Amino acid sequence: MLEEMISINNIATVRDLLDKSGRIVIVSHKNPDGDAVGSSLALYHCLKNAGKNVDVVLPNAFPEFLSWLPSSADVLFYDTEKERACELFMSADVIFCLDFNLLSRAGDAAPVIAESNAVKVLLDHHPFPSDEFCVSMSHPDACSTSELVYRLVTSLYGIDAVTYDVAQCIYTGMMTDTGAFAYASTRKDIYLIIAELLAKGIDKDKIYRRVFYNYSLSRMRLLGYVMNEKLKVYNKYNASLITLTHDELMRFYVVKGDTEGLVNMPLQIKGMRFSCFLREEQPGKINVSLRSVDDFPCNAVAAKFFNGGGHKNASGGELRCTMKEAVELFSKALQDFKAELTDNG
Ligand code: 5GP
Ligand code: MN
Repeated sequence: MLEEMISINNIATVRDLLDKSGRIVIVSHKNPDGDAVGSSLALYHCLKNAGKNVDVVLPNAFPEFLSWLPSSADVLFYDTEKERACELFMSADVIFCLDFNLLSRAGDAAPVIAESNAVKVLLDHHPFPSDEFCVSMSHPDACSTSELVYRLVTSLYGIDAVTYDVAQCIYTGMMTDTGAFAYASTRKDIYLIIAELLAKGIDKDKIYRRVFYNYSLSRMRLLGYVMNEKLKVYNKYNASLITLTHDELMRFYVVKGDTEGLVNMPLQIKGMRFSCFLREEQPGKINVSLRSVDDFPCNAVAAKFFNGGGHKNASGGELRCTMKEAVELFSKALQDFKAELTDNG
């Protein structure tokens, strides 16, 4: 038996909403990752199998290594199919908001979701959810939103709702959000759920290879370059920084997904507590990825210095400035958090 997470009251509310709703839209955050896509498609399959009229709209494309997920071709992208996406949001009775805690994380789709009269239902595992949602199922203890989808759909429909396709989507989300169960994954319920997913016939080793052994040669070349020439270690702070300018991204033919996981790698260095990756997506627009271990709260750094937030050990943000200015800001952040980075606790 799993420990209770989503309350019986919330399950009843969702059941009631689903009974009354004709049109359902599922949305997740921009630059969707394995958990965003996995949880969205898992819920999509379950609601569809329950006879619902449901669509998945994501703010923009996901990396190629997720394209094997069942029914990923059904996903609509807001940035390329705005008109149809707006229609869906505006005519929806319910919008499920998965794997984000602030509407603005849906990027350009956020104002349209805000404007829609649909009942907005949050299902998420990030701390500090905003109050923009009508029903809020926010559970930072969950390893992933995919774990929460498992809990929700089995509460609503029983274990039979978890088909082979659903199990593949849920496992992918759980696996990617925990670095293949290397972090945020010490609760026993995670493995009870995995046992059920295995019973549905998923091949977890194959899923691992499909996601993590599916990179291009250019990604490998990029890793070599980054580790050799771009990784800067701040020994005094147990911290590290990787920067990639827009020119460098072009030079290495970097495509979506190629820099995935890069920010985690410096944490493999003995004693390293905090890793930052600054990626200049467009000239003057810098995406910030932060990772930490143990108690160092990188979400506090993201909120204070990088217009962002996230989990304690995995967070991010965005800057509009030059790379030089961004690096200066990072140095400031290190000074500001020096005590937490260097304490011996
Ligand atoms: P990543 O480094 O993989 O892009 O993001 C890691 C985590 O940081 C995400 O799961 C999300 O929780 C959080 N995050 C990333 N970017 C932002 C942002 O711009 N704003 C907020 N609030 N959180 C972010
Ligand atoms: Mn997640």
